[in-house]
Amino acid sequence: MIGGAPAYAGVVETTLLADTHGRVASDLRVSLTDRCNLRCQYCMPAEGLDWLPDDTVLTDDEVVRLIRIGVERLGIREVRFTGGEPLVRRGLVDIVRRTHELDPAPEISLTTNALGLSRTAGALAAAGLDRVNVSLDTVRPESFAKITRRDRLHDVVAGLEAAHAAGLGPVKVNAVLLRDINDGEAPELLRWCLERGYQLRFIEQMPLDAQHGWTRGGMITAEEIFARLEGEFTLTPAEEPRGSAPAELFLVDGGPGTVGVIASVTRPFCGDCDRVRLTADGQVRNCLFAREESDLRAALRAGADDAELARRWVAAMATKLPGHGIDDPAFLQPSRPMSAIGG
Ligand code: SAM
Ligand code: SF4
Repeated sequence: MIGGAPAYAGVVETTLLADTHGRVASDLRVSLTDRCNLRCQYCMPAEGLDWLPDDTVLTDDEVVRLIRIGVERLGIREVRFTGGEPLVRRGLVDIVRRTHELDPAPEISLTTNALGLSRTAGALAAAGLDRVNVSLDTVRPESFAKITRRDRLHDVVAGLEAAHAAGLGPVKVNAVLLRDINDGEAPELLRWCLERGYQLRFIEQMPLDAQHGWTRGGMITAEEIFARLEGEFTLTPAEEPRGSAPAELFLVDGGPGTVGVIASVTRPFCGDCDRVRLTADGQVRNCLFAREESDLRAALRAGADDAELARRWVAAMATKLPGHGIDDPAFLQPSRPMSAIGG
């Protein structure tokens, strides 16, 4: 036993994905593609990006194999599929089904812009998907078109409804506020989500856009978000322990409705992080802001067995830094943008 469950006959040994700062990763974020059908200003340029060459993207079998190694050998208990836009990945339903069949079955969730979710929510739920997080920054068509550079608000709304109806709940909505675009809409978005039973969480904008356009002054801070919401609602801290959850949760007007604020920049929660990321091209990243990756795809395609891949993965985690360092004067944005890391 190296640091987890003991090995029994026929059961592979578990090594936890521990770093040198006392954290253990059990939540795997898997990016299934770097492609997307929206062009959110805080994520991608209008013209899109140079997508990963097809032959570098893990096949369905390769993705499922790496997830299986994470679940069987490395203590992964939650798997979140993301991207780019994971719904544009053709094999998504099958990948979810095969992930659900793993032993022990991980909790499976999806972070999505919800375009097309109205058609696939039922199949995804049947395949074993537990929950969705839908990214929606506004319920005004003109603001939506400005932020995402596409006129698709109605598709997102339909996707949310389908996810709710398919039992993919609690349905969470992730919103980023942009100064002078939708920052005045926070109370309206919260009211809209509360009326529909969706759990809204505001995320501070992070320096992960492909255009490197983020500025601290441009970012709407958690303090500003609270100020805007408290103009119309009474927020009280929810009592449940936060644990490794990035969102600080508040009861709205005494509950039961809640709102979350993910203050990644101004109130970092790196000390409680339990996440590890796998990119669509098979690189392990121990942090969103990591400047180094570990290439599992090359090892996998060179014939490495499960034990060797697990060993490389464990080694990649050991070098996880204590924090993202955005406040460090020497901070450098990672070369991969959010859409290619998997948010
Ligand atoms: N396309 C899917 C979606 O939008 O939900 C999944 C990928 S997207 C990169 C994942 C999440 O990252 C979304 O909730 C999005 O709002 C968020 N995101 C993207 N760029 C961001 C940034 N610069 N700062 C904060 N959040 C960002
Ligand atoms: Fe696409 Fe999601 Fe990035 Fe928006 S945030 S451009 S939906 S990957």
